[in-house]
Amino acid sequence: MKILIQNGHVLDPESKTEGIYDILVEEKKIVKVAEHITDAADKVIDAKGCFVMPGFIDLHVHLRDPGLEYKETLKTGGDAAARGGVTTICAMPNTKPVIDTEEKVRQVHERAKKESKVHVIQLGAITVGQAGEELADIVGMAKAGCHAISEDGKSVMNASLYRKAMKIAKEQGIAIFAHCEDITMVEGGVMKPSETEDFHYDAQEDSAYWEGEIGGKTYHAVYPGEDGEGTVEAGNK
Ligand SMILES: [Zn+2]
Repeated sequence: MKILIQNGHVLDPESKTEGIYDILVEEKKIVKVAEHITDAADKVIDAKGCFVMPGFIDLHVHLRDPGLEYKETLKTGGDAAARGGVTTICAMPNTKPVIDTEEKVRQVHERAKKESKVHVIQLGAITVGQAGEELADIVGMAKAGCHAISEDGKSVMNASLYRKAMKIAKEQGIAIFAHCEDITMVEGGVMKPSETEDFHYDAQEDSAYWEGEIGGKTYHAVYPGEDGEGTVEAGNK
């Protein structure tokens, strides 16, 4: 099967290509990128006015599968990702049950191959059941293809446990996606700048501290918005 994508505005950081090019795809592989490709193809796509880029990777996705399929599934989340040009998604582990074992990671990866149009990387929880009491099987989950662990939606409110998790993550060569929220300070409210007090707390500094000491990688999944109110979900590493 040959597919010819014509007249697209190609942006490829790796090969430092930018401009209007044609792309020839043969058996799912890009075989030629040139200004005018005249090869015959089974399918021709006119990409005039469109950007043509490598697939995006979304580091923070909730597939809600297993257990909360009325919200999203491997299939619907994968369809939405593909529609937006995202070809790899990192699924958060706060499903029902929580993804906290090698076996559960393998199950999602195997199902994803059949049910999702895009690559799914399942993340594992940091603690068993995200209960914050004992560490999940981080080594096993890394073996099953977890590229990162995260307590997404929850904080690990035990610095010693978190530190151990970071050490194991570093040894396994995987990252931590940190949910930076100190729940002892939330008390049902949101953080905003104070006109009367010079109060400053930075959860990123907290995890950056361990990052500095242990030398692993963290990605801050949630942190205060630019205006200081509420939170935004975005990555900085
Ligand atoms: Zn999330």
